[in-house]
Amino acid sequence: MLFETQRHRHRREVHEAGFTDAWRTLLATTMAHWELLDDDERHRLGERAVDFLASKRWEAANGFDMSDEVTMLISAEASLITLELADDAYRGVDTIIVHPTTMVMRGQHSQVQGVVSDDPMPIIGQANHNGPVMVAWDAARFQARHPEEGNNVVFHEFAHKLDMLTGTANGTPPMESLEFETAWVSACTAAYERVVDGRSKVLRSYAGVNTAEFFAVATEVFFDTPGPLVKHEPDLYAVLADWYRQDPARRQARN
Ligand SMILES: [Zn+2]
Repeated sequence: MLFETQRHRHRREVHEAGFTDAWRTLLATTMAHWELLDDDERHRLGERAVDFLASKRWEAANGFDMSDEVTMLISAEASLITLELADDAYRGVDTIIVHPTTMVMRGQHSQVQGVVSDDPMPIIGQANHNGPVMVAWDAARFQARHPEEGNNVVFHEFAHKLDMLTGTANGTPPMESLEFETAWVSACTAAYERVVDGRSKVLRSYAGVNTAEFFAVATEVFFDTPGPLVKHEPDLYAVLADWYRQDPARRQARN
């Protein structure tokens, strides 16, 4: 390449430097999940996070000051949930827009199943079909340190992007077999109905807005508070563990 923009040069340099000790220190101090990983997982997560950071477009919104901490932490959290999936699991992600804090969404939306509203709605993230992922940094930063709360906007929005790989966001991401899809639909439907009926002990009510939100919220809980999920929704935990090819409850138990 004869000419390259500053942005391209930065991406190339990040990629060439790889997962440095500085990145490692950063994640050890900003990402609670880092502590739970074994050496092999940390190594692979680091490589994936650098690839992600260098290959996606990052935009700062509302005058936000985009630092390396921002791009690396979001990259590492996004890479954690796809750690055991194919390298191109995020082929549907092109751009990540980082806002300093909560955004206000306008236009029609729904926060309760069947209820559509035009009122301005505060949101901390959004994933658009064939469009960018948006994240509020203050929420992402806090949640990365506090998995015990069971909320993670990065896991949530990137789970939507995985779901959208089928062309439709409906809570069923690409499946390897019809047999597994049958087990998935059965487990998710039962747990979803418990949310809608107000009987779920582990999934917040927002999971009942629709099946796409169900999958995104279930992903947050699966990675952040897997113990209660195994206890109260074992069938849901099992299909998520099969699909993500991870066992976060075991990971937490061994630490
Ligand atoms: Zn959502």
